[in-house]
Amino acid sequence: MALHHVTSGRDEGFDDVYSGLLSRRPLPKYRLPEGPNDPRAVHQLLRDELTLDGDASQNLATFCTTWSEPQVKELMAENMAKNMIDKDEYPQTAAIESRCVHMLADLWHSPRSRTTVGCSTTGSSEAAMLGGLALKWRWRAGREAAGKPADRPNLVCGPVQVCWEKFARYFDVELRQVPLEADATGLRAHQLREHVDDNTIGVVAILGVTYTCDYEPVAEIAAELDAIAADGGPDVPVHVDAASGGFIAPFLRPDLEWDFRLERVASINTSGHKYGLAPLGVGWIVWRTAELLPEDLVFDVDYLGGSMPTFALNFSRPGGEIIAQYYNLLRLGREGYRRVQRACADTAAHLADEISRMGPFTLLYDGRGALPAVSYTLDGDPGYSLYDLSEALRAHGWQIPAYPLPPARQDTVIHRILIRHGISRDRADLLVADIGSCVETLASGRRPERVTFHH
Ligand SMILES: *Cc1c(COP(=O)(O)O)cnc(C)c1O
Repeated sequence: MALHHVTSGRDEGFDDVYSGLLSRRPLPKYRLPEGPNDPRAVHQLLRDELTLDGDASQNLATFCTTWSEPQVKELMAENMAKNMIDKDEYPQTAAIESRCVHMLADLWHSPRSRTTVGCSTTGSSEAAMLGGLALKWRWRAGREAAGKPADRPNLVCGPVQVCWEKFARYFDVELRQVPLEADATGLRAHQLREHVDDNTIGVVAILGVTYTCDYEPVAEIAAELDAIAADGGPDVPVHVDAASGGFIAPFLRPDLEWDFRLERVASINTSGHKYGLAPLGVGWIVWRTAELLPEDLVFDVDYLGGSMPTFALNFSRPGGEIIAQYYNLLRLGREGYRRVQRACADTAAHLADEISRMGPFTLLYDGRGALPAVSYTLDGDPGYSLYDLSEALRAHGWQIPAYPLPPARQDTVIHRILIRHGISRDRADLLVADIGSCVETLASGRRPERVTFHH
């Protein structure tokens, strides 16, 4: 019998979700149901199922926003119909996007922040594609102008996030990932000379290495590339992948030169939905100055009689995240971001101290100086692994990933814990208590099955 025959004809006076037909059978999973169902029942059953995902605020694996102010939620709901690409229909949403670009360009010290170009994206991954494409186009134009072959581009980087591997594969660029040195967690400037050549479209430097959360030395990387060019070698631009650090470094380490203060930095991406504090679905890319974005990558769409340049992989895209990003920029200002990120960094440093004090761990990154996060390894062979500890913590609701470092340090397995807006000091202490009890249980060889309650 079709579901709607029963659930749409409600019993007069008895309207109960859990005794209705929809909840008394498995939900349809392979075939679109024939008829409609009661919205309340569908909503409730979906909510029930989604609780199995766990609590996003206990997901300490993600860099992404898991807490937002009620005003952000309202703006998201109010603007659900706004399509970012319809710049002629929604000129104010387009204007807001542009304001965010210029504020970021200014925050990152573009010498021409009011006239330079940039755009919103769905995240840093799309931004990386756009940044990589601009590098490839500029390199090719230079090679063709010099009458040289332009068919074997390469991109040089350290332990990058997977989006750069995607860029390289999708757009036919050789990815030259420089192996980690024995005691390093990222690319080091002195490694570059061996890897860059005339076919290098750019070097990606990472502000907030995904694996360990510290910063690559962007200024040293830029200086080494200056020296290579001065020695008659290739003149290679830098793109900074500041997915996380782009919203941390300007507030917590304003004197650290990683951005457009370095002339060699041609473009920067960040994830608005990470430490930019916007809800999921927004990233940004900004070029140092407008001429660094090749014109033939930009498509013009009509905009109120004029034309609006767009550079994006997708067409339709929600506008709410961009509006919410602007909300956060206005709501917090520099001082607000500084306080929010400082609170996260203090909590991360405290967590690092507590973890270090526990004994069996060695910190790889102590939460100080770069992202508000902690990464560590397990000492020796205590009879359990970090994978076991992750699993034990999962029983308490915590999601903390264990994974190997990239080549050539892939024998080292680490834990990484991210502290974001919305994770208080007390919450970190609850986590410390749970790590302590899990370690104790694992060390004693008992199965970690009993969840303790905190009073
Ligand atoms: C998260 C991250 C990305 C990918 O960003 P999305 O916004 O998730 O697409 C790229 N690079 C680094 C360094 C990251 O941390």
